[in-house]
Amino acid sequence: MIYFDNNATTAVTPAVLDAMLPFLKEQYGNPSSIHQLGNQARVAVEQARGRLAKAIGARSSEITFCASGTEAGNFAIAAALQQAKLAGKLHSGNNIVITAIEHPAVKAAAAWFGKLYDIAVRVVPMRFDKGTVSLAPFAEAIDDNTLLVSVMLANNESGLILPVAEIAALAKAVGALVYCDGVQALGKLPVDMKKLGVDIFSLSAHKFHGPKGIGALFCKRGLKLPAMLHGGSQESGRRAGTENTPGIVGMGVAAEHAAACDTDAVAALRDAFEQGLCARLGDKIHINFADLPRTPNISSVQFKGADGNLLLIMMDQQGLCASTGSACSSGSLSVSPVLLAMGLREAEAKGTIRFSLSRLTTRDEVDRALDAVVAALK
Ligand code: PLP
Repeated sequence: MIYFDNNATTAVTPAVLDAMLPFLKEQYGNPSSIHQLGNQARVAVEQARGRLAKAIGARSSEITFCASGTEAGNFAIAAALQQAKLAGKLHSGNNIVITAIEHPAVKAAAAWFGKLYDIAVRVVPMRFDKGTVSLAPFAEAIDDNTLLVSVMLANNESGLILPVAEIAALAKAVGALVYCDGVQALGKLPVDMKKLGVDIFSLSAHKFHGPKGIGALFCKRGLKLPAMLHGGSQESGRRAGTENTPGIVGMGVAAEHAAACDTDAVAALRDAFEQGLCARLGDKIHINFADLPRTPNISSVQFKGADGNLLLIMMDQQGLCASTGSACSSGSLSVSPVLLAMGLREAEAKGTIRFSLSRLTTRDEVDRALDAVVAALK
């Protein structure tokens, strides 16, 4: 099997698994317990928090562990609105601004909480200017009534890297909070909270060779947000519930390794894959978004006139795992709204396959993947 679907999820590395295992076996203490076993777990959780914080240029106190990127995104939007309501600043003229290419975790949460609080959700279209994302539609959408701007750092389907710092500056100028979905960023590009200028940032371990079911939220120091979950005093009272110690430990190690990843080596393999495809298939294919800033691991390829879902099945039969869009929408026959928002026509989006590599991908796998694509097309 050749696994080119690393934006859907990644393999847990042996080092991450080794770090986790003791906390699934003999070191099963509850981090809140004051005996030795509890203390060992507490120390491990705090060590992992420090590792994750270092990997993203944050302070340990700014990190809250949670269950997933989806939970973090839902919380960011709910909390920003709850905070405004508690401060008596929420009124029906308010709005939240999101991009047209956000993950469903953000899009659906914005729609839900926007409706609940009776405020508008402004969806900013993607426009490109000289190979970069144009800021003009953001400047148009953000105004004095904007409570929150939600902009992802790296898009899961196209790999597009968004100018988050510049968009955050527009939001800050009107006093809006900024949430950044960073789930697809760590391990693919430098992530530094000091440079990004956002208030809230989300991560998910299973996207960078950590375990599933563990995520984290960065909340900038000084930012007062309501608790994610109410109950015990875990996570400094920000998210109640007994900590997922093995998951947290795994996430800490995975984050450290992801931050040290040689992204140029991944980009070189991706480029070799794309060159190989072009050499073998010529004008039967088109590499989408190659002229835009994109993460080093992703190749979005249009197979002209083909049905992406059918092609995916054929590739699977050749032992190659890829995807037509985000994992959440695969299985459904609708065309990816993200690809349409990125400027593809319907037929182009339907024939598009997302190949996503990782730092574990080898040159041999690239060669075998090329053979598998050619065989599947036949
Ligand atoms: N945000 C982005 C950009 C994603 O790609 C994903 C997962 O595909 C999520 C959020 C959701 O993360 P999780 O799978 O941890 O819920």
